[in-house]
Amino acid sequence: MSATIILGAQWGDEGKGKVTDYFAEAADFVVRYQGGNNAGHTVVIGEERFALSLVPSGVMNPNCTPVIASGCVVDPGVLLDEIDMLTGRGVDPSRLRLSSNAHLIMPYHRKLDAVKERYLGRQKIGTTKRGIGPAYADKYARQGIRVQDLFDTKIFVDKLETVLTEKNKILTRVYNQLPMDTREIVHEYQAFAERLRPYVDDTSLLVGSAISEGRQVLFEGAQGTLLDIDHGTYPFVTSSNPTAGGALTGTGIGPKAIDRVVGVAKAYISRVGTGPFPTELDDDDGETMVRVGGEYGTVTGRRRRCGWLDLVALRYSARVNSLTDLFVTKLDVLSQFETLNVATAYSSLGDYYTEFPRQQRVLYNCTPVLHELPGWKTDISGIRDPADLPDAATAYLHFIEDAVGVPIRWVSVGPERNQVIDFRPTATS
Ligand code: GDP
Repeated sequence: MSATIILGAQWGDEGKGKVTDYFAEAADFVVRYQGGNNAGHTVVIGEERFALSLVPSGVMNPNCTPVIASGCVVDPGVLLDEIDMLTGRGVDPSRLRLSSNAHLIMPYHRKLDAVKERYLGRQKIGTTKRGIGPAYADKYARQGIRVQDLFDTKIFVDKLETVLTEKNKILTRVYNQLPMDTREIVHEYQAFAERLRPYVDDTSLLVGSAISEGRQVLFEGAQGTLLDIDHGTYPFVTSSNPTAGGALTGTGIGPKAIDRVVGVAKAYISRVGTGPFPTELDDDDGETMVRVGGEYGTVTGRRRRCGWLDLVALRYSARVNSLTDLFVTKLDVLSQFETLNVATAYSSLGDYYTEFPRQQRVLYNCTPVLHELPGWKTDISGIRDPADLPDAATAYLHFIEDAVGVPIRWVSVGPERNQVIDFRPTATS
């Protein structure tokens, strides 16, 4: 197994940080291929908790090269703060590689993100207001500023002046805000440039060569499949492609380079912010998931909405990503329940759906068709051997595999790196 994509199979927050960290022990490279500093990753090592928003979790492994690839958008101030935080806590970030093609988040992106959400009011997307959406919008409008532009002052100033003329008109005339000053931004970003210079690289070449040499490369998706700009629950999505295809375009490698696609799915499901959510629980069961699962955003602290595992959505995720394996997390959280439910289909507007509906209107009106399974009501967090799992837990996992058609290869039963059950110990690699 040399090249593996690890991605969120639900609405994000599946515990990918821990999963990537688990694999990163053996990885030579860990590559972030999309998103920006909206994606919180929590890595727990012993007593220490590291909240990473941009640097790939592979940074914790001294033999691993963490890569921020060209599909990401980078807020240089945030990246440098994260580098300083890691250094301050004894983690050496000097191996980090940053794509010269990645787009920069600029101060006007953050400003526009915030004022636009306020302007939308009840229609707001629920963005993290970190300028990520506006930075991607400029990338596609071909007026983005890239990491490489930081190192050519003339180009940087030219591009900035052009784009800021337009942005200032929008800020002042549409949103009634003060305009931004080119010189201030140039000054701030030139200081960033000097500090970022040692990390900047041709990451497509770097990662492509590593794969050719048979090195272990992990691609770490941020957010999750149902938040994909093309395949998620648009418009309540992120502005990039967390799905497997995004790993290819976001890094600059081809599909034949990939050996394995691991979908990370919680044993239940959560979603943060607005948007349709068929299995959402507004009752005590939902509250128990939030409390026991610690379902609050790493970056924003926002409370996540929780509900029963949605197998319709997970099957969809298996299809759009060509998942080869499932990594089920937080099974321990379900130890609280006498009985469990999973959604096997939806009913909506008089119709019955076994496939994830493509129309928002249908999805909004979905009632899940639930299948009840017995709970196990016992602490499983210390279990490492699948044979020691309670029968009801094993039956729950087999039910998921059968419904989704993808084998569960690993099961996580706690936040610690070693709280993982190899569910198929006889499988190769
Ligand atoms: P990510 O963005 O997908 O990495 O998700 P988060 O960073 O929000 O991770 C979810 C939270 O769950 C973190 O606080 C993890 O430490 C924690 N976590 C991960 N796996 C497990 C697990 O199997 N059981 C429990 N109880 N917590 C877990």
